Amino acid sequence: MPELPEVEITVRRIDAAVRGAAVESVLAPGMNVMKTFDPPLETLVGREVTGVRRIAKMPVIEFGDLALLIHLMSAGRLRVFDKRATPKDRASRVLVRLGDGRELRLREFGTKQRAWAKLLPGEAVAAEEMVATLGPEAWPAPPLDDFAAAIAKPRHLHPLLRHQKDISGIGRSWVDEILWEARLSPFKKGTELDDAEVEQLHAALHVLGDAIDHYEGTIGADLPDKIPMPLQVHKREGQPCPRCGTTIEAVFFSEHQMNYCPKEQTGGRVLKDRRLSKLLK
Ligand SMILES: [Zn+2]
Repeated sequence: MPELPEVEITVRRIDAAVRGAAVESVLAPGMNVMKTFDPPLETLVGREVTGVRRIAKMPVIEFGDLALLIHLMSAGRLRVFDKRATPKDRASRVLVRLGDGRELRLREFGTKQRAWAKLLPGEAVAAEEMVATLGPEAWPAPPLDDFAAAIAKPRHLHPLLRHQKDISGIGRSWVDEILWEARLSPFKKGTELDDAEVEQLHAALHVLGDAIDHYEGTIGADLPDKIPMPLQVHKREGQPCPRCGTTIEAVFFSEHQMNYCPKEQTGGRVLKDRRLSKLLK
């Protein structure tokens, strides 16, 4: 799933490409993709795209005083195409057809339809349920005190940092990088951190900003569907830690995995593979 840095570079590139373009028509071939019906999508016809931005991991396309809020879920992608999708393109969810022949397309890969969009008055976006319940954005990093308050929860750091209501923008890839950068165990609890550790974790959020800078230098105007991510430990099990050379370990869960450096993050302990312990029960 695209996380804060990937969605940020996506909206920057799309904003540069379509800002000012006129909307010719809008279609929603994805059966259940639109979660709002009033105003209808046709309201956008004749309007201009006035900006593309992001809230946490959600792109927002603005058309004057209306905004299309998009939740990509795990497999949604937003991209501009020179030509229009054919009706056979089964990945199409929302098609914003522009007057110059191009198309801003929300697609979703895989068999599940989970991505969704809401067309809202611009002023209503902040009050939308998903948006209103978000914790502070992880980048630019919130003030230290706000961050400390956001993560002061008796839960393991790995799920805690991915929980959008506590702090927003981080997902399964970047959480590993942030914890590795901070040299903290994914199984340490938010409430177990001392002041120095909270500061380390707060400082480690710079990996998100570094990733955006990296993308600025490597991603051109035409966004790839899969942005090559500059990851150091996530999905790097078996490889040497780029800092200390210790073999990176992994814990596998049903839908995701966690990677860490045992020497620097868990006091040398190799954590149990949850997948395996489940089988042994
Ligand atoms: Zn290491």
